[in-house]
Amino acid sequence: MINNSYKPNSVTREQAEDAVRILISWAGDNPNREGLIETPKRVVNAYKDFFSGYNEDPYKILGKTFDEVDGYDDIVLIKNIRMESHCEHHMVPFIGTAHVAYIPNDRVVGISKIARLIDTFAKRLQTQETMTSQIANTLNKALNPKGVAVLIDATHQCMSTRGIHKINSSTVTTTFLGEFKTNLNLESRFLDMIKIKSNEC
Ligand SMILES: [Zn+2]
Repeated sequence: MINNSYKPNSVTREQAEDAVRILISWAGDNPNREGLIETPKRVVNAYKDFFSGYNEDPYKILGKTFDEVDGYDDIVLIKNIRMESHCEHHMVPFIGTAHVAYIPNDRVVGISKIARLIDTFAKRLQTQETMTSQIANTLNKALNPKGVAVLIDATHQCMSTRGIHKINSSTVTTTFLGEFKTNLNLESRFLDMIKIKSNEC
């Protein structure tokens, strides 16, 4: 059941470290042995990094746009962006590649902002489906472009290191909005463009 009164960040660092100690004991080890004594601190620090997206406002990241594009009205594609997230079902990583395209209406955004947008949503507890849709919808609202396409291809460690142990499977999710949704030609151009091998540099 959803508890709407739950306040994120109401837990102290000390409580979080205690929780890690409990999990170490649950796993069958002694949290007080030398090798593990500092582990709760490290895990909590790692969590700060893994889940830093909760402290970011994606609209702020996309806030600065440029309107001098000299009539450019074709696909802008940022592809092969590595993404690292954690599945909300098992809290283990899923890692992969995101490709984000949009067709500007009158404004474009700095390309590094797209990578930060992905991190903002990736660095939370996620499902790949939700994340794909959040990235597309946020870009759509912030830039009001003619269309948005997002494709994420990721490997879930909850599939590869536990449960059914399928190491080579990857999951592909897509969201197409605006002209990418209504114009099949654009959709297939996007899919063709992400197949082109990047110049290694
Ligand atoms: Zn999972």
